[in-house]
Amino acid sequence: MIVGVECTAHTFGIGIVDKGKILANVKDMYSPASGGIVPMDSAKHHKNVSEKLWNEALEKSGISEKDIDAIALSNAPGLSPCLIAGLHFAKEKAAELGVPIVPVNHCIAHLEIGRSVGAHDPVLLYASGANTQIIAFAAGKYRIFGETLDIGVGNFIDKVARHFGMPFPGGPKLEVAAKTGKYIELPYSIKGMDVSFSGMQTKLQQLFDKGAKVEDLAFSLQETAFPMLVEAAERALAHTGKKELVLGGGVACNSRLQEMCRIMCQERGAKFFCPERSLLVDNAAMIAYTGEIMFNSGIKENAKNVDIKPRERTDEVNVIWR
Ligand code: AMP
Ligand code: MG
Repeated sequence: MIVGVECTAHTFGIGIVDKGKILANVKDMYSPASGGIVPMDSAKHHKNVSEKLWNEALEKSGISEKDIDAIALSNAPGLSPCLIAGLHFAKEKAAELGVPIVPVNHCIAHLEIGRSVGAHDPVLLYASGANTQIIAFAAGKYRIFGETLDIGVGNFIDKVARHFGMPFPGGPKLEVAAKTGKYIELPYSIKGMDVSFSGMQTKLQQLFDKGAKVEDLAFSLQETAFPMLVEAAERALAHTGKKELVLGGGVACNSRLQEMCRIMCQERGAKFFCPERSLLVDNAAMIAYTGEIMFNSGIKENAKNVDIKPRERTDEVNVIWR
């Protein structure tokens, strides 16, 4: 029985997994009234909700604390104050229960959870606020095949939406507006396997200031930014010869992005996996799920020795569990 703790950014969550089965997945999100995440405030949020969520998860799963074999902690990558809040909590619990900690890379967990819905060896299109990466397992490691050269696709969408007067999170609001929009050409920016969004952001803001309709801009944003992601993901499939695509991250909740991925996979005979919403966004079930796989291959650390790794890259992780 593994309890997972997610803490890397705005979400604090507790997830419980037993033999690959998710028994609980509860979370609480820090959401600032205006503007972006203030890391110290998010960390305070995590501290405030952690004990309550811990109890809630135990209650939901019906397990007792003595059943817990280890605590899986998302110790990387992320915002330092948030990671520290999670680390303190996990260490406290690990000491109390006398169990080890399994340190889990958050990005890899987004990929591994795809295995809970049937993927075996997928390419992950990870499209979230801060992160935009295409990740797959190759030559012994999880490698980043493509990524954003500037900001994450979600942050890009939120910035544009804020310029249009829509509060955070802008993604869902722009998705609704896009339904009645018409196409305007925007800068399509993909270099090799990498994407960038700042040129499109500037263009969208200029067009808005000149009086273009929000619906048209929202539609065109989706029809330009998402194909960039799908193109890079398709190239990763072609390059690695893999036959499965998994979606992850908050932006993956967008039904147009899902549709584009589904069509691309159909056309090249690949399988498409889109986990349910609660597993797409930041969540602790994916941390517990990944932690259990790692634990079963012998990865566990004395709580005293675990530290945060705010900048750990996906390909720095020593993958001994596959
Ligand atoms: P995450 O960083 O994974 O928690 O995801 C949060 C990001 O997902 C924010 O930038 C949201 O605007 C974005 N997002 C959530 N739902 C949607 C949607 N339906 N379409 C586009 N972006 C979305
Ligand atoms: Mg995430």
